[in-house]
Amino acid sequence: MALKKILIHPDPRLKKVATPVTSVNDELRRLADDMLETMYDAPGIGLAAPQVAVMDRMLVMDCAKEDDATPEPMVLINPEVVWTSDARNVYEEGCLSIPEQYAEVERPAEVEVSWMDLDGKTRRERFDGLWATCVQHEIDHLDGKLFIDYLRPLKRQMITRKMQKLKREMARG
Ligand SMILES: [Zn+2]
Repeated sequence: MALKKILIHPDPRLKKVATPVTSVNDELRRLADDMLETMYDAPGIGLAAPQVAVMDRMLVMDCAKEDDATPEPMVLINPEVVWTSDARNVYEEGCLSIPEQYAEVERPAEVEVSWMDLDGKTRRERFDGLWATCVQHEIDHLDGKLFIDYLRPLKRQMITRKMQKLKREMARG
């Protein structure tokens, strides 16, 4: 397994719509392993393939985040939201591509998602709480959408400017 470099906003690749996966092969399984390792190392609770510059519709997540919690790594290929609750929920969201910036985002409190797993089987599950927020945030990445796109333009621009500054500093080393 290997750590992947996580793209930092603003980056045109984070604004692109990712391509559906047509077959689950060893390369894709390796990518899923690398993405999980990269996510745990960051540390984060979710990571979508476009964030590591791979334009496949695949994401990984694990929201079992208490220190003593048993890890619950999930890999979702071609995920689709098939149902959303009327009830909504507000969470303070962050993103590994927008380090150290957090903002409240309102989303459906519960969602039902269908996807393909690493065995090529179709799965369908209902998510609530942090899992619901996380899976919606990650599926957004597959459509080129970031959590800051839900914020008011002024707040979004402020965060983008901070990220541009961060990237200049990182480039200088
Ligand atoms: Zn994110």
